[in-house]
Amino acid sequence: MMICLGIEGSANKVGVGIMKNEKLLSNVRKTFVPAAGCGFEPTETAQHHRTHIISLIKQALLDSSLSLGEVDVIAFTKGPGMAVPLISMSIVARTIALLWNKPLSAVNHCVAHIEMGRLITRADNPVVLYASGGNTQVIAYCNKRYTIFGETLDIAVGNFLDRVARLLNISNDPSPGYNIEQMASRGTNFISDLPYNVKGMDISLSGLLAKIEAIHSHHKTEDICYSVQEVVFSMMTEITERVMSHVDSQELLLVGGVGCNIRLQKMLNDMCIQRNAKTFSMDDRFCIDNGAMIAHVGLLQQKEGIEFNLKDTAVTQRFRTDSVFIKWRY
Ligand code: MG
Repeated sequence: MMICLGIEGSANKVGVGIMKNEKLLSNVRKTFVPAAGCGFEPTETAQHHRTHIISLIKQALLDSSLSLGEVDVIAFTKGPGMAVPLISMSIVARTIALLWNKPLSAVNHCVAHIEMGRLITRADNPVVLYASGGNTQVIAYCNKRYTIFGETLDIAVGNFLDRVARLLNISNDPSPGYNIEQMASRGTNFISDLPYNVKGMDISLSGLLAKIEAIHSHHKTEDICYSVQEVVFSMMTEITERVMSHVDSQELLLVGGVGCNIRLQKMLNDMCIQRNAKTFSMDDRFCIDNGAMIAHVGLLQQKEGIEFNLKDTAVTQRFRTDSVFIKWRY
């Protein structure tokens, strides 16, 4: 039996999770919500995380009926993400580890999304569509790596939706993507001349964003949300199908915050039904950034004897999914 406390804070959520082997003991989270029309600035976001991290750690320990002394490993997000929030939370992790004399485990955020998805859904060897604020990747496991077969060439889908919400002055509470989804369900007119940019197994979204910036004042907000979702999610479904076909996979796992979108889930599910494949998705507790996924990978790494000394615990804004050696899988 091994217990890990994981700290996540790479973007606008700060989360603490505690895992005891594969059992979830606690998963608590706070979200920084900026005003409508604004994005989340790194400095303000880090300040939010610093304000809440101690009470989240106390809550997670209380939920688990544990003291810090009973925790075996402290895991934290090494990257990718925003530098200032990452640094703030890594300092918290290092401080706890040094004070309580615990080993540290530095975790890749994208790998954590994938492994938590596999744990929760029990998908065995799925193609993974990782769609979030900072990442849009289609991934398959191959030779001890999560290989990226397709990805965005410019901005991530979640970041794209955030930018559209900002342009249309849509609220960020609870999230811009959720509010776009609600507006889209009331859209009636499809705007047909939007660019659809698929290049092989990759997509590009900056041209579409420029187009929306140019035309948004001529259309109803609901119609823009509806059209944008249809176009972008179709692009994502197309490249996901291409990867599934390429690696001959019958399983698709959807992870990341945009993975909560019901319209995206429906499109992917329709595609999977046509290919006799199965879709696995999760609700917002595990789809959205959380501490438990960091704790889970912290445990996987610790059990494989992957050690991190203090100088290995610097954070990094860029940290490719395929740069991690996945020692725990065959
Ligand atoms: Mg994420």
